Amino acid sequence: MSFLNIDSVKERTFDAIVIGSGISGGWSAKELTGKGLRTLVLERGRDVKHITDYPTTNMNPWEFEHLGQLPKALKDANPIATRCYAFNEDSAHFFVKDAEHPYVQEKPFDWIRGYQVGGKSLLWARGTQRWSKYDFDGPARDGFAVEWPIGYEDIAPWYSYVEKFAGISGNKDGLPQLPDGEFLPPHEQSCVEKHFSEQMAKHYNNTRPVIIGRCAHLTKPQPIHFQQGRAKCMNRNLCERGCPFGGYFSSNSSTLPWAAKTGKMTLKPHSVVHSIIFDEKKNKATGVRVIDSQTKEMTEYYAQIIFLNAATLNTNLILLNSTSNRFPNGLGNDNGLLGKYIAFHNFRTTISAEYEGFQDTTTAGIRPNGSYIPRFRNVFKQETDFLRGYAAGFSGSRMTSNDTSGLGEELKTSLTQKKYGNWRVGSHMMGETIPKESNYVALDANLKDPWGIPQLKVSVAYDDNDEKMIVDFHEQMTEMLTKAGFINIKTHDNPTKAPGLDIHEMGGVRMGKDPKTSLLNKWNQLHSCKNVFVTDGACMTSNSTQNPSLTFMAITARAANHAAEELKKKNL
Ligand SMILES: Cc1cc2nc3c(=O)[nH]c(=O)nc-3n(C[C@H](O)[C@H](O)[C@H](O)COP(=O)(O)OP(=O)(O)OC[C@H]3O[C@@H](n4cnc5c(N)ncnc54)[C@H](O)[C@@H]3O)c2cc1C
Ligand code: SF4
Repeated sequence: MSFLNIDSVKERTFDAIVIGSGISGGWSAKELTGKGLRTLVLERGRDVKHITDYPTTNMNPWEFEHLGQLPKALKDANPIATRCYAFNEDSAHFFVKDAEHPYVQEKPFDWIRGYQVGGKSLLWARGTQRWSKYDFDGPARDGFAVEWPIGYEDIAPWYSYVEKFAGISGNKDGLPQLPDGEFLPPHEQSCVEKHFSEQMAKHYNNTRPVIIGRCAHLTKPQPIHFQQGRAKCMNRNLCERGCPFGGYFSSNSSTLPWAAKTGKMTLKPHSVVHSIIFDEKKNKATGVRVIDSQTKEMTEYYAQIIFLNAATLNTNLILLNSTSNRFPNGLGNDNGLLGKYIAFHNFRTTISAEYEGFQDTTTAGIRPNGSYIPRFRNVFKQETDFLRGYAAGFSGSRMTSNDTSGLGEELKTSLTQKKYGNWRVGSHMMGETIPKESNYVALDANLKDPWGIPQLKVSVAYDDNDEKMIVDFHEQMTEMLTKAGFINIKTHDNPTKAPGLDIHEMGGVRMGKDPKTSLLNKWNQLHSCKNVFVTDGACMTSNSTQNPSLTFMAITARAANHAAEELKKKNL
């Protein structure tokens, strides 16, 4: 009998365990298996195989039961997910259903999640900008939050590394606040975007550039992408359905199949990680407790190193739930700061306008990208009464209308002959929020989820700094659009919009130099449990104005390679 048990333990023992198979987990899996480590990837959701499990990817609009609209019953059952722009009839199957995964909103927070192999990498909008020196220097400069233990120079080679593999399109713009990367050819700006860009260069002496967005699309696949089985992006802009060409980067099309090819990866879907096992005698983590999402049975898996990539808030949850005599308040939580200093992006406000020129032009095809206004506030010095800054998306298209009155031939003709109006442009602000102790997550003392795990309590809100930033965005953008000759400029703010919809939550397990004020060291190891690595958004000390996922990828690759080296040296 004991012989059988030993065999079973052996079968459940790996060199490394990765928790989560989304953007960061995919990179952990790729790097660790690439270094020869037998790696178990635990994923709470179902398996989603590249191409075969994208059921809507080739459907025409009329083939959908509700012609692409969300039926009322689905909306009513999912008030949180429905608020996400990407939750539609063609993509709803990749979103968590609200009732199935409850959490406590101490303050309103729209937590958007994708629980399946690939996580949110199937759903993301693929904006991928490097962070700059100014982003990593932010906290040291203004004293808000703690100083980063790494700088841009530490992460730059890893940006290059992940960009080449993932495939990022963009233009080399030479901007200090937005470093260039290893780009595939950029998409083209529309004529009205180019016009705005030229006008900004003229009126602001090149200090407010408007550039084409940088995004994870294969505009010109390289041999490394063909080796992954991926092909050129066809500009269908149906990405949230999953792309059969692998035209955009997802874990499913890229990192996970690459890891699988090594023969070293074991992928276990339906595996909800409950907690990490800490061995007091060994003074390190030895494995994880996992609940089968279907049978609800608990099993333990063991490994020498553990990578936490469950996405920011779930990573916090798992650590908070990993209690032991040594760590009664959660693994690594000697200073009581675990779960605190959560930050997000201020996406609350937009601006729109019209342009009367370019009446003889329109756009062709569906570019899966837009233009981008990099941060221009408080970059080189503090110049406003709010801290940090904002970037903005910017894109333009021709307004069209069709006459839908009439019948038969007349109706057919009016439907196929679009009437063009003015060019219309829109911009949304992406503001950096300041990580604060009062923005936190914790475990609810009473409520449990369907797997018996304490529910996460989220207490995160906007503050004065965010409000001032919104006012500034309205003022500056109105001035900029006016100078560029736009009309009908309209600002839109929605103060009731809760944090969360940016889907860029970060922090709670921040990196830092001092174990008294941070949880992780410069290699993403828990200060007090060195064989546990946190490399998703939970590790972020501050959160920049740029989109975060490229930085999660670079930080993960860097940490995974370090972990593999340390393991080889028997330091872990
Ligand atoms: C509509 C949308 C648009 C977005 N646009 C952008 C963008 O343009 N640019 C950008 O940078 N980012 C964007 N994002 C955010 C981006 O998707 C996330 O930053 C990124 O996916 C985070 O990577 P991750 O590995 O931390 O989490 P995920 O990719 O979400 O993966 C986490 C995985 O862990 C699993 N998991 C969670 N808990 C457990 C557990 N207890 N046990 C086992 N497994 C678990 C989950 O099921 C999931 O598969 C967008 C997101 C969405 C939804
Ligand atoms: S736009 Fe490109 S990546 Fe998106 S679905 Fe189309 S081909 Fe795929």
